[in-house]
Amino acid sequence: MLRRIKIDWATLPNFQPLETPFPAPERIYPGLEEIEPESFPDFLDEIGLVGMGGSGFPASEKLRASIGAHTLVINGVECEPGITIDQTVLLHHSLWVQAGANATAKAIGAKRVALAVKDHPDQVAKLRKLYPEYDIIPFSDRYPVGAEKLILKKLTGKIPPPGTRPYQLGYLVQNVVSLRATGRAIIDGFPVVERPLTLTAPAARFYKNTIVPVGLPVREVLTAFALPYDPVRHLIVGGGLMMGREMAPDDGVEKTTTSLILLERAALEEKEHGCIRCGACNTACPLSLHPYSLVERIQKGKTDSAAFQAQMTECFLCGVCSAVCPSHIPLVQTLAEGKQCLP
Ligand code: SF4
Ligand code: SF4
Repeated sequence: MLRRIKIDWATLPNFQPLETPFPAPERIYPGLEEIEPESFPDFLDEIGLVGMGGSGFPASEKLRASIGAHTLVINGVECEPGITIDQTVLLHHSLWVQAGANATAKAIGAKRVALAVKDHPDQVAKLRKLYPEYDIIPFSDRYPVGAEKLILKKLTGKIPPPGTRPYQLGYLVQNVVSLRATGRAIIDGFPVVERPLTLTAPAARFYKNTIVPVGLPVREVLTAFALPYDPVRHLIVGGGLMMGREMAPDDGVEKTTTSLILLERAALEEKEHGCIRCGACNTACPLSLHPYSLVERIQKGKTDSAAFQAQMTECFLCGVCSAVCPSHIPLVQTLAEGKQCLP
């Protein structure tokens, strides 16, 4: 989670998507054309599938809880500004995505598959052709609309009550890259050992959607794409500017690494000022929380009340409050610390 930085994503060149300099993994499983629904959660454990949208939650547990849901939602609404890997996978890997989605829908008994995507008319038209059997549901291109809660809000007409899980409303929401990995395992017979991601270095005008091996040190990814790295000058962010985290060059790419962003440290310097009680953070919070009062409570150690804990449970650390704060107060960092106070 970072301080604000302005990047004009639209001006970056977009290279041929999903080309990769890394070799394809080797087949491990036999050619599994179809998996029996009863054994499907075990299959997800075997391939090592976790929520690849960033949650890292074991996919089999989520699936077991969702048996009986009426709708599988493919979440292709990118959750971070400037990142386009979900949209790219939807457009270029539809065979794997559909194999994963169809097997998942069958396993939970869902009659309907909905595809949540950003409302870009040209892309929506292509997706309607690629996924003719799914309901395409366009969402506005406004962060953080790809959050599970906000997807359910659009599908059900209201924000889910605090603590409600999607399966309690009849939905299973799965990230598109998770479903692609499922389809890859079904069709090509190998576990989750590769990670599609957006790799970008805005100052060098480099932007690419690619696929890298899980576990490969970030330094080697940068080298493979001839991106120079200087620890004094650069900062590596994994997972996006709003909810991501700083990564060290020797850190390995994780299954949840949706993007790698190489930033110039100089561009991040912003001086923090005191709160001017402008209320911008309250207005901007998509869940109508009061971020600064939560932060004050965390700083004063007043974290025992039920009201505080309910609000902290709801906060999904989207970082919108920090992004709008004119005093550059890193609210979301403190909120992340507040999460640690939850019982
Ligand atoms: S991070 Fe801030 S804006 Fe996002 S949900 Fe939490 S309080 Fe609301
Ligand atoms: S946006 Fe920043 S300055 Fe305004 S009320 Fe929130 S914390 Fe205070």
